[in-house]
Amino acid sequence: MTSPSGGAPGAGLPPRRITHWINGRPWSAEQSAEQPAEQPELQPGALRQGEVYDPATGRVAAVVDFASPAEAGAAVAAAKAAFASWRESSLTKRTAVMFAFRELVKRDAAALAALISSEHGKVAADAAGEVARGLEVVEFACGVPHLLKGGFSENVSTRVDSYSIRQPLGVAVGITPFNFPAMVPMWMFPIAIACGNTFVLKPSEKDPSASVKIAELWAEAGLPDGVFNVVQGDKVAVDALLGHPDVRAVSFVGSTPIARYVYQTGTSAGKRVQALGGAKNHMVVLPDADLDLAADAAVSAGFGSAGERCMAISVVAAVDPAGDELVEKIKDRVAKLQVGPGSDERSEMGPLVTGAHRDKVAGYLDTGVKEGATLAVDGRVHPVIGGGVDGFWLGPSVLDHVEPAMSCYADEIFGPVLCVVRVPSYESALGLVNANPYGNGTAIFTNDGGAARRFASQIEVGMIGINVPIPVPMAYYSFGGWKNSLFGDTHMHGTEGVHFYTRGKVITSRWLDPSHGGVNLGFPVNA
Ligand code: NAD
Repeated sequence: MTSPSGGAPGAGLPPRRITHWINGRPWSAEQSAEQPAEQPELQPGALRQGEVYDPATGRVAAVVDFASPAEAGAAVAAAKAAFASWRESSLTKRTAVMFAFRELVKRDAAALAALISSEHGKVAADAAGEVARGLEVVEFACGVPHLLKGGFSENVSTRVDSYSIRQPLGVAVGITPFNFPAMVPMWMFPIAIACGNTFVLKPSEKDPSASVKIAELWAEAGLPDGVFNVVQGDKVAVDALLGHPDVRAVSFVGSTPIARYVYQTGTSAGKRVQALGGAKNHMVVLPDADLDLAADAAVSAGFGSAGERCMAISVVAAVDPAGDELVEKIKDRVAKLQVGPGSDERSEMGPLVTGAHRDKVAGYLDTGVKEGATLAVDGRVHPVIGGGVDGFWLGPSVLDHVEPAMSCYADEIFGPVLCVVRVPSYESALGLVNANPYGNGTAIFTNDGGAARRFASQIEVGMIGINVPIPVPMAYYSFGGWKNSLFGDTHMHGTEGVHFYTRGKVITSRWLDPSHGGVNLGFPVNA
């Protein structure tokens, strides 16, 4: 098999093949035959594959193997076998591997970013930013000895001591979306592994190469075989992992319907699940705001990564009378955006991830107009610099005078379409955001500190920005939304991540003392 992190094939060669990473090496068919005897139902399945595109040209760049339950089972078996010794490894040993991994990701950050850009389409600087933010979670996980410190109380009763510890769960699974093929997995596995768990990653089938590059780096860092595994594929792989009796915890990030499904299926199979879903992030602009700053922010957060970010701003709620001036300022900036291939340094916005997604996003422009919105900017006619004519292009669009009943407002579009809703007051902006079924991120732009403080307190959303459009928390805080943006109650990374990947134990201990003795059937209370 060609290394997925290697270069593109020459003309006439078949597309390179991306496969699973199981037990410290790329998958080969024999590994699926190595199933433990207690799972005879997991037989190797027929090879299914998907196509991976270069979104800037529209060409098939690679094929990716889709796991059958047999490959998913082989990965879980490898992770289960590795858990026995990994959980016993000292914190010093685990952190040494984490530090080594951190150095290797830093060393290969540009290569990783180029891989992401080639399959996702995002521009190089954006892909580099994704790697940098993922690396921050690795750095946070390097401090796991401190994070796993328990409490100790001497003499909770006479000569009785109590202490608490947190222990790993076992095999943890991560199921991740296409839009951050490195960063979102890195919200999960550094902390899971540092806490002593083993991990099976099921990345998006649309841009799978980053996951294999990451696996290669783990191996180089000295992580024992089987601690980190990758299973490529689709629903078949997900269902096999969700139903597998040896999987203890599932972290999911993706769209809301699948998040809900993963949460319900996983928890009914007795697993601990955190499932982050979709978003419709509003940016509220009060009339006293600096409208140039607000317009810069709306354009940056609306069209960065072609709007394919769960923290993208997709709705601007312009409080009267800010709307007209703000929309003019947004239009001026949008007209100047350079749309082109991720590999071209001039590009500020790349193509969408697939042709089907591009067509779906573009469809909202027609339905928006039919439902009464004004098409203030039509991205379908925006010029594209470089890139193939068959690339999945769609320039930035602005729909103005959008109403909550319109499909462009109700649905998560997940593309470069910014909706502007005009609202008469702060209260109506607050009501609009709080009535929305999603609650991932939001932002307020104002120069009124009191209004901003009130907003932060009253808004029913998990991550809030004040004059900051994409308020993604740092690694040492936790990332997660409310309402339909999160199923489960634990957010990702930070101390909540450590809690998710460990379970607590409290030990009460008394060492034999001659003054104690005798039977006592009463409930233990302090004498
Ligand atoms: P998606 O839900 O289609 O896919 C996510 C994962 O689920 C992938 O690994 C995919 O293979 C798998 N999957 C897809 N359909 C499935 C099914 N029927 N059964 C089981 N598994 C299935 O999401 P996507 O299109 O890859 O990513 C975009 C979505 O992710 C957007 O909705 C975005 O808001 C969301 N997202 C949310 C966050 C967050 O933090 N809340 C972060 C990033 C992306």
